[in-house]
Amino acid sequence: MIQQDIIAAISTGLTAGGIGIVRVSGAGAAKLCAPLVQLRGLSLEEAVPNHLYYGKITEDGEVLDEALVVFLKAPHSYTAEDTVELQCHGGPLVLQRVLETVLSAGARLAEPGEFTKRAFLNGRLDLSEAEAVMDLISANTELARETAVKQLQGAHSEKIRAMRADILEKTAFIEAALDDPEHYSLDGYAEKIRPQLEALRDRICTLLSSSDNGRVLAEGIRTAIVGRPNVGKSSLLNYLLGFERAIVTRIPGTTRDTIEESCRVGQLVLRLSDTAGIRESEDTVERIGIDRAREAVREADLVLLLRDGSADPEEEDEALVSLCEGKPALLLLNKADLGLKTAPELLTARTGLPCFGISARTGQGIDAVLEKIQEMFRLEEIRQQPLLVTNLRHKNLLAQAASSLDNALLTLENGAPEDFLTIDLMDAYRSLGLILGEEAGEDLIDEIFSKFCMGK
Ligand code: GDP
Repeated sequence: MIQQDIIAAISTGLTAGGIGIVRVSGAGAAKLCAPLVQLRGLSLEEAVPNHLYYGKITEDGEVLDEALVVFLKAPHSYTAEDTVELQCHGGPLVLQRVLETVLSAGARLAEPGEFTKRAFLNGRLDLSEAEAVMDLISANTELARETAVKQLQGAHSEKIRAMRADILEKTAFIEAALDDPEHYSLDGYAEKIRPQLEALRDRICTLLSSSDNGRVLAEGIRTAIVGRPNVGKSSLLNYLLGFERAIVTRIPGTTRDTIEESCRVGQLVLRLSDTAGIRESEDTVERIGIDRAREAVREADLVLLLRDGSADPEEEDEALVSLCEGKPALLLLNKADLGLKTAPELLTARTGLPCFGISARTGQGIDAVLEKIQEMFRLEEIRQQPLLVTNLRHKNLLAQAASSLDNALLTLENGAPEDFLTIDLMDAYRSLGLILGEEAGEDLIDEIFSKFCMGK
């Protein structure tokens, strides 16, 4: 175990609640907290680990709060270090005061994610499992939660470890044969190893191909609402956000400095972004141009292409249809309350896009659209997949590993010397290892944990 200082933070939300927890972790945590905690006739240092004690938190004789106190002894705690949890009343001010007292007793304020980082550094979680903690906390659908829990319990890690063991065994054999050709022969090895490497690469590719679904699941469906000015884009956005009062979050966009809003559709989350000027109500296409629409479409998982169904289509409407080629897209004829000029079925036949008459004003037809979206993203099928890659970092590393294996196969094909093969194999081994955090540099680790919330 790595010896570190004692850290402390409020580990529960900073709103008023029944209970709020100040967590203190590090060797000597009990000793540090002992003078601040009055248990009945007992010092915290004598407390039996994992037992809950009633006590008072005091500072210079003043009682700050009554609390339940638990001491968790290393390595049987979240961080795998000695940990004290002060379960106070959940008022922000109370918790702040208790935390300050702990800090003045010598603890250091934990950085965001530092408890989990310690769990990782102490070997209690690997990096993929630590990342799952964050996914679990931020999960906003049942499916995202399920997936995060699986990952937290090591479902990913297990697969990755098995693949690494496989690669290592092959590399070790080749190295042994190169060192000791009398006892290990590489004759016919190329033929033997080729199908095995292909199978391994396919396993990685299967994981990779789950990542689009995984991202949709973890982050929601990036949805672009595009269309000419005044067709009702803002109205539709507002309607969706108000839909069944299902506004989920107002989160800063991840790709740019924009506000992104989400709405829930059954088990799915639609991420509606205003990057494409969907909030601008006038002259949108003229102002943002078709390029911007193209960009919005490219970045989207789903395009809602809006037209004014009560008016005749214009040239730009056709141009927008061709932008959507190859993308999951729906053609929505808005303002159906004013009467539609063309039947949706006709347009489906003409454009190849599923087409619906809707009204962002009255809400008519929107249920059918949402149903269609759920059908398109086949949730139940996604749920059946044994393992979903939800993390972009993992996806990139898997892609690297697959490409190293491709190189290895190429080496075999060209009959190049075996040491080339081991280089490719070890590249794949390392890429997979980085998913688990093996040989991960400090920068990477810091970056990952800095995205965590305070107190986790
Ligand atoms: P945007 O420029 O595409 O964002 O369009 P807006 O959402 O600003 O809507 C333009 C105009 O169309 C506004 O006056 C809306 O009230 C109106 N509008 C939007 N949706 C509907 C609809 O479904 N029916 C009717 N009758 N009017 C609509």
